[in-house]
Amino acid sequence: MIYLDNASTTNVDPTVFNEMTPYFTLMYHNASSNYLNAKAVKLKIEESREICAKIINCDASEIVFTSGATESINMALKGYMEENFDKGNHIITCKTEHKAVLKTCEYLETKGIDVTYLDVNKDGAIDLAELESSINSNTALISIMLVNNETGVIHDLKKISEIAQKYNITVFCDATQALGKITVDVQELGIDMLCMSAHKINGPKGIGFLYFKKHIKLSPLLHGGSQENNMRSGTYNTPLIVGLGKACDLASSNLQINQKHSKKLFESIIEKLATLKSIEIIALNTNRVFNIINMRVTGLDASFFVESNKEINVSNGSACTSRIIEGSHVLKAMGFSDIEASECLRISFDKNTTEEELNILYQQLKNVC
Ligand code: PLP
Repeated sequence: MIYLDNASTTNVDPTVFNEMTPYFTLMYHNASSNYLNAKAVKLKIEESREICAKIINCDASEIVFTSGATESINMALKGYMEENFDKGNHIITCKTEHKAVLKTCEYLETKGIDVTYLDVNKDGAIDLAELESSINSNTALISIMLVNNETGVIHDLKKISEIAQKYNITVFCDATQALGKITVDVQELGIDMLCMSAHKINGPKGIGFLYFKKHIKLSPLLHGGSQENNMRSGTYNTPLIVGLGKACDLASSNLQINQKHSKKLFESIIEKLATLKSIEIIALNTNRVFNIINMRVTGLDASFFVESNKEINVSNGSACTSRIIEGSHVLKAMGFSDIEASECLRISFDKNTTEEELNILYQQLKNVC
């Protein structure tokens, strides 16, 4: 099968896998223990933390290992609002955020938090004037993703942070689809908290991190054995942490090569798709990453195309929502009707994707257009 669903998850890079394996079988010791083997394991965990910090340009002490982006998002949003109630009870986010953000915000609304869900235009962009005018004296937090998982649209986090700083508001950024695709520098972008998941960058599933700036206070989601400076209790999952570190290492050292590869594939498939009249590329001419393409194919039953496809793994929305019949909340926020959204396909590449594979997709689409 041809795999064109890398925004959903990626395969584990063999180098990452090899780095992890000794920590299942040989170096299995509990990193919180005080004998020599355990200390060696702890040292490796701290090495991974340094690598994670480097990829986003923060201090290693500002990284907490979690089970991935969903947990990090829950920890950032719930933990911040619980610990900083004196700063206000209002969050600003956007209608095209991942469900992990939207559902956490909905939960917080049941606890008395006010949430503003910003609209986007047909290209998926936020109106920064609208963002600024949504701020009130109770606004404590702005939560906007860097790269949208369904469309590849990049939000201008630098400008968003500049607005937030004027009003002394904390910025949380879901960078799950950005790491390894674009440079993510939290100092440069002015981001206070950020999350990611290793499995989006050829690392293992079930691991990621939350970055939060030194001065920020969060209440933890999990209480227990005090690991991670009391921020995330539970025995260290060393193999996954090691895999996360190696995946970040590869993502940062291969960033330029991978970007070049994606751009080449993007330009070549876009040129071909442009010859098919019934295809519209969503948010084509906006600031975007090149590894995600969402397209509307007029008249196509995208669910059927995906589910019956014997050659290609491709998505008709984000994996978390593709089993739900109603159209993608992202596309709907961009102005697509349920029917139009049901005609949309998302393809997403990684470093292993080839032009030949994309040609097979093109031939399939040519047959149905
Ligand atoms: N945020 C974004 C933008 C994502 O694409 C995803 C995964 O699809 C998540 C959050 C959740 O990541 P995980 O399922 O690894 O917790």
